Amino acid sequence: MSSKITRRRFIGRSFSLGAGAFLFRGFSLSAGPQKGMTPLVITSHTNQTGQAALEKGWSLLMEGKTALDAVEKAANVIELDPEGTGVGYGGLPNEEGIVQLDASIMDGRTYSAGSVACLENIKTPCSVARIIMEETDHVMMAGNDALKFAKKWGFKEENLLTEKARKIWLRWKTEISKSDDWGLPDHLRGLKKKKINNRMSEEIQYRTGTTNVLAVDKNGDIAGVTTTSGLSFKIPGRVGDSPIIGAGLYVDNEVGAAGATGRGEDVIKCCASFYIVMRMKEGRTPQQACEDAVALIAEKYKNINPKFMPGEKFIAVNKRGEVGCTSTRGRRPARLSLQTAEGYSVYEGTKGSSR
Ligand code: ASP
Repeated sequence: MSSKITRRRFIGRSFSLGAGAFLFRGFSLSAGPQKGMTPLVITSHTNQTGQAALEKGWSLLMEGKTALDAVEKAANVIELDPEGTGVGYGGLPNEEGIVQLDASIMDGRTYSAGSVACLENIKTPCSVARIIMEETDHVMMAGNDALKFAKKWGFKEENLLTEKARKIWLRWKTEISKSDDWGLPDHLRGLKKKKINNRMSEEIQYRTGTTNVLAVDKNGDIAGVTTTSGLSFKIPGRVGDSPIIGAGLYVDNEVGAAGATGRGEDVIKCCASFYIVMRMKEGRTPQQACEDAVALIAEKYKNINPKFMPGEKFIAVNKRGEVGCTSTRGRRPARLSLQTAEGYSVYEGTKGSSR
């Protein structure tokens, strides 16, 4: 492990493919439109948990359940996975070691939305967001009052910090700065760590990774979820893009849906998911619309700091079941996984913008 760890390093990491996946390449601007197919359910997660989530969502769609049920229950699979350090239970904590979750849900059929921010101790924040959406006239609730609200609806308060996440957090605390009192005693700093402390030779993977789950059901209705533990080691109280409707998630039943992961601050400023859906409304394919959002961010910084490009990944689906994704960082193009009547597959989009 390298000695210097910054938050930015955690963004944009890719996951390995789940067993049995087949990969098909996205059509970028230069290639023609892809074959759309509905019903379908897609997620930004391309690991085995993502595949398990899609199986759950797909089985519900096949039982005739709504896109809303499919995205919520599929996202729950990812939220409940203790191994995933970017979402729900097992997510990496804030700088004080407390797991604070953000999530949103949107139902295109009824043009309803719900979201929670800085929610602690509840493993399935997107289900709390759904209760807010369906059982109140509000869209967004935050912090301790959101927790109290969730408990009234029967959600169980639980410790979300797994041993794995706690160890990663402690590693971060001890290594993030050389000028505070965390880490080795002063007189041992600069010496070979392995010799002093065996613990330091153990490799720990640092990651973050929100998930987006989007679906179109048999009736052509569209729904989406975005759920996350947010930026690892964030300042307590920081809210990212995930619970902000239009930023981390947007659904328009006549058009499609989009979701974002990555540096939330920029997703918020450019209302990325809303922008992507509006681009699709203007006739852009999901792939083109995702790339348009990257181009929009680049345009905003071109006179301020042209070298700056935040780490982002966008995914989108339209009403016909065509999909798209792009990312701004990483060695390879962005991927999403999808489940249709033809089975499970991984779609490879692009990296960056072709504008
Ligand atoms: N978008 C999330 C946030 O800013 C972080 C992530 O996707 O990893 O909270």
